[in-house]
Amino acid sequence: MLNIKNDEDVMYVTSAAKKIMLFFDMDGTLNHFDTNATLEEVKSKGYMLNRIAIEKMVNLALVLKLQGFDVNILSAVYQNGYSEEEKNRWLDNHSLQGINRFFVPCGTDKGLVIKSLQRENPDKTLVLIDDYSPNLFSWEKAGGVGIKFYNGINGTNGTWANLGKFSLYKNESIQEMNKKIMWIANVYS
Ligand SMILES: [Mg+2]
Repeated sequence: MLNIKNDEDVMYVTSAAKKIMLFFDMDGTLNHFDTNATLEEVKSKGYMLNRIAIEKMVNLALVLKLQGFDVNILSAVYQNGYSEEEKNRWLDNHSLQGINRFFVPCGTDKGLVIKSLQRENPDKTLVLIDDYSPNLFSWEKAGGVGIKFYNGINGTNGTWANLGKFSLYKNESIQEMNKKIMWIANVYS
């Protein structure tokens, strides 16, 4: 778990945490994305609710929240009457009750979402953790900072590897990932 030894470390955590707002994607970032599922299955009742968690990422979000980071969810939902509700229940079921959620219709450019968030939070750097590079590129183009999560099945095109700055890998420990985010928080202050 966390390796905070003294008051000075706690101060360091707190001051870094205040400078950024973190946004976690869900599909493929907090949960395992089922690449074999058909679109019909993905859209069906119960699909979102029954996604298997990527425990390490869920725990990372919880650790960051405990450290005082402003942790949020930014996820796409189908406009079918239950997708959003199921994602909310999934988050509640995985100890993420206290975390703000922003849901956008599937297909929405996440880079468009950042504009209103920036207006509301002019002093903060907005950081998106996502497994999908197009989201990260449009987020950065709009002035945010992107962190790619390599979940073991994505990253086959190599565009982020060539052009992106920050990445998290499924084989890293929570401490390693946490350290990177702390570092990023200090850089963008
Ligand atoms: Mg995703």
